[in-house]
Amino acid sequence: MTDPIFPPSAEVAANAHADAKKYDEMYAASVNDPEAFWAEHGKRLDWMTPYTKVKNTTFEYPDVSIKWYEDGELNVCVNCVDRHLETRGDQVAIIWESDEPGGDEKITYKKLHQEVSKLANVYKSLGVKKGDRVVLYMPMIPEAAYAMLACARIGAIHSIVFGGFSPDALASRIADSEAALVVTADEGPRGGRAVGLKKNVDAALDICGDVTTLVVARTGGGPGNKEGRDHDYATLMADASPDCPAEKMNAEDPLFVLYTSGSTGKPKGVVHTSGGYLVSASMTHQYTFDYHDGDVYWCTADVGWITGHSYIVYGPLANGATTLMFEGTPTYPDASRFWQVCEKHKVNQFYTAPTAIRSLMALGDVPVNKCDLSALKVLGTVGEPINPEAWNWYHNVVGKGKVPIVDTWWQTETGAHMMTPLPGAIATKPGSATKPFFGVQPVVLDPTTGKEITTQEAEGVLAIKDSWPSQMRTVYGDHERFVNTYFAAYKGYYFTEDGCRRDKDGYYWITGRVDDVLNVSGHRMGTAEIESALVAHPNVAEAAVVGYPHAVKGQGIYCYVTLNVGVEPSDDLRVELRNWVRKQIGPVASPDLIQWAPGLPKTRSGKIMRRILRKVAEDDFGSLGDTSTLAEPEVVDDLIANRMNRG
Ligand code: ATP
Ligand code: MG
Repeated sequence: MTDPIFPPSAEVAANAHADAKKYDEMYAASVNDPEAFWAEHGKRLDWMTPYTKVKNTTFEYPDVSIKWYEDGELNVCVNCVDRHLETRGDQVAIIWESDEPGGDEKITYKKLHQEVSKLANVYKSLGVKKGDRVVLYMPMIPEAAYAMLACARIGAIHSIVFGGFSPDALASRIADSEAALVVTADEGPRGGRAVGLKKNVDAALDICGDVTTLVVARTGGGPGNKEGRDHDYATLMADASPDCPAEKMNAEDPLFVLYTSGSTGKPKGVVHTSGGYLVSASMTHQYTFDYHDGDVYWCTADVGWITGHSYIVYGPLANGATTLMFEGTPTYPDASRFWQVCEKHKVNQFYTAPTAIRSLMALGDVPVNKCDLSALKVLGTVGEPINPEAWNWYHNVVGKGKVPIVDTWWQTETGAHMMTPLPGAIATKPGSATKPFFGVQPVVLDPTTGKEITTQEAEGVLAIKDSWPSQMRTVYGDHERFVNTYFAAYKGYYFTEDGCRRDKDGYYWITGRVDDVLNVSGHRMGTAEIESALVAHPNVAEAAVVGYPHAVKGQGIYCYVTLNVGVEPSDDLRVELRNWVRKQIGPVASPDLIQWAPGLPKTRSGKIMRRILRKVAEDDFGSLGDTSTLAEPEVVDDLIANRMNRG
């Protein structure tokens, strides 16, 4: 069977930053002589002190050390804001679209500079110094971007905690980082409801002890400010000077700490630094989305995730782009909202997650077709493997069969895209993240021997052979955990924790987490493939597959299936789905148990938490592990009550 393949159109290729030939040339240069390649591309930033050293990295266990541009000095805020003032001061930097349709705001680079400089002075007036940690617990409002950039301006390290997290999760992160300041808002409107951010901050500070706060009045609601501890944003901004010289930072000074999603365990505090991070974030933003001056670019992620850091704020603004920030949800007030926003602001590049695509696909084509999406030039996806079914819908219905899709594989740890097609250069295959970005050297390792599989076609553990500029430098406060998590299992490589397959064309397919690989009667299988087969059935909206101990086969295949709205579960349908998967993949993939799941446990960023599903499938739900990043904990109770494997 050959996979369908979609070559770039000649028209896209002709105008793109890279066509096939240029990609090949640049990729070869980037791996043959990384020093020279990154010396050249480091120049995309403005440096206060130019670097003379480019790469100083070793993956040698246990002496792992990663430094890029180590004697260079720069300021990230200057690169994202100040340097654009002369050429594009009046250009819109941020388009903000509010939760309620109709509300929006356009912030020029000039205005951005003013707001960020004032806020940086407010930080200073509150005692924040270079190297201090600032926790941001914000809704999706322009002030969130100001708050990040103001940290960068004075050399403070931000740690964003997603606004959906509980007071407990927030408290542990404030305490963990010994934050000097917490920036928040009274409330955050989302999908027509107000999230009580300040209320949660109050509750968190009850747990971890008082910290100075700065509170943006977004709705005028919430519990009010506590004398001496909480400060009103507007009041302090009104008196702040718009003149704040930027701190000169070393390339290796930390820019931010960010916790991973927690899909596989306790979240890790990932540390990113200033120079290398911004080189990769801006370069990938330009090439992956084929961003050109004047384009309107929209990434729907929350700033609380790495995607929001690299691809709403730092990458786009470093490139002088117009970046859209959306406060709301895909389906409020109705299922057309994403597409209405695309139409309204004539969005050229649109970047979202498979979970959003699947949920919108389940609502049909009508909400999409109501809107004029003719400005779209690139569609992107990130966060999980995208099922070919969802890819095809995105391609045909949203992209009208013409708009290239970039399936970007990367991680909080990698800071920027690692594998992705480039719109004018790389033919796409639905479900494949295709080829590595410049400088990225993926390898497929044999999980048992740890040796590189050198044949073109390969399946195993995905690892990376050499460093890239935006690689994480350490786990905050726990360097040993960094070294042991990523460099101990396979010596000499960065271990991604993901499994993958490389096909005959050298394309990479992420098969899921290594922990999730099934071994059924001696056959190793990724869960992604079985899930994709299930989702391809017309009655299935979403599916998650895990293994459970099976007396005969070693592991059995346990499927959680969410049906489309209006479809009744039945034993006949179970039989039909089992046969369907057998036909699509083969008898070895035949599901043993199928549980109807009204909802699946997901992280707040929309990823399915398979480790919880595995526990339920194993009939061992007493120890679910860290569930603090679950979006809807109630979902789990239903799954336990209706579990299929009762010991
Ligand atoms: P934790 O590390 O705490 O378990 P997490 O891995 O979900 O959480 P993130 O850094 O947000 O935290 O997610 C990165 C992971 O998401 C990747 O390792 C991969 O498993 C998955 N992923 C991201 N993009 C893609 C993609 N395009 N295709 C397939 N998988 C993807
Ligand atoms: Mg991870």
